[in-house]
Amino acid sequence: MEISEIQVDGYEKVARCRDEATGLHSIIAVHDTTLGPSLGGMRMLPYVSEDEALFDVLRLSRGMTYKSAVAETGLGGGKAVIIGNPDEMKSPELFQAMGRFVESLGGSYITAEDMNIGIADLNDVRKETKWVTGLARDDGGSGNPSPYTALGCMHGMRAVAEELTGSQDLADRRILIQGIGAVGAPLSVQLKEAGAEVLICDINQNRAQAMRAEHGFEVVSDDGHQAIECDIYAPCARGAGINDDTIPMLRCGAVAGCANNQLLEPRHAGDLKDRGILYAPDYVINAGGIINVSVEVYSGGYDEGAALERIERIYDNLKRVFEIAREEDISTREAAARLAERRLEQGRAE
Ligand code: NAD
Repeated sequence: MEISEIQVDGYEKVARCRDEATGLHSIIAVHDTTLGPSLGGMRMLPYVSEDEALFDVLRLSRGMTYKSAVAETGLGGGKAVIIGNPDEMKSPELFQAMGRFVESLGGSYITAEDMNIGIADLNDVRKETKWVTGLARDDGGSGNPSPYTALGCMHGMRAVAEELTGSQDLADRRILIQGIGAVGAPLSVQLKEAGAEVLICDINQNRAQAMRAEHGFEVVSDDGHQAIECDIYAPCARGAGINDDTIPMLRCGAVAGCANNQLLEPRHAGDLKDRGILYAPDYVINAGGIINVSVEVYSGGYDEGAALERIERIYDNLKRVFEIAREEDISTREAAARLAERRLEQGRAE
């Protein structure tokens, strides 16, 4: 196994690994450990080049630093990418080699699940390193993060509701959720329990109809759903849904959902602001999963009570973001970045 370092300005450590025996070709980026060891998922994709993989891991690890700084997980930002087609290249040996690569960083990078990586793969990684989170509860891990991401989103929506009307009560709010998957489904149920009027859409019609049958939700067509009038629009399906085409269609008071990278481009945060639509920055409102995982690292074992208490703070974090945006007359996206940078500065000063 050959491990080498790539020098990148602004990153604490970027390491590259090639292992001929297993075919492993991977990069791990440790962006910043000011606030704690870096944590971020491991993804496997058939990148066309190492440069493309490097671009992705740099972007994502930096994002994790900001996400954890705002969420106050006590962690820094890192990420791992494996270059290769997951359908063809996965093997226990490859993931064990990946485990040795993670181990070589001495705990400055802690890994977790991400795109095309499952619990079985992580179990193989775990054979070679203890720096793995998000394993099953039976194996001492924090388990499936999705219900916690949904719960965090609920707390965030209370802050959104309060910013819109002065009351954090979600009862009778009309909330449209795009994507009734691992996060959207529990979110929809929690919102119903809070008395909200829930509308759903999903490209998977069977899933949407099953949720309607079980919970009585109104199902709307995914096509053009952005034009439906609602208090809160919650994208919970995929990224880049907020863009030049959809923003003029929106008839919501706020965009607040769990999908990653909802804005096609950063400038779209400014466009939402100009239209008077409140945007809950995605990485702030969808931090419930990472907060849940962080408890594994810090409390000497996973403790659900501690996780729930920390997830509730998403409400306070979003309130702070909205406050900064108002005070400094900037978009909420910029305000979240400022909050993260201030917490990092504070960490550096301590
Ligand atoms: P998922 O795959 O379980 O669910 C996604 C749902 O969206 C599915 O029901 C799918 O049919 C639907 N969908 C996909 N494309 C669509 C489209 N174009 N229009 C309408 N519906 C569409 O995924 P998930 O785990 O629920 O994650 C949803 C989003 O939240 C992703 O962006 C993910 O990165 C983000 N996120 C998830 C978590 C987590 O804990 N699962 C944490 C943070 C962020």
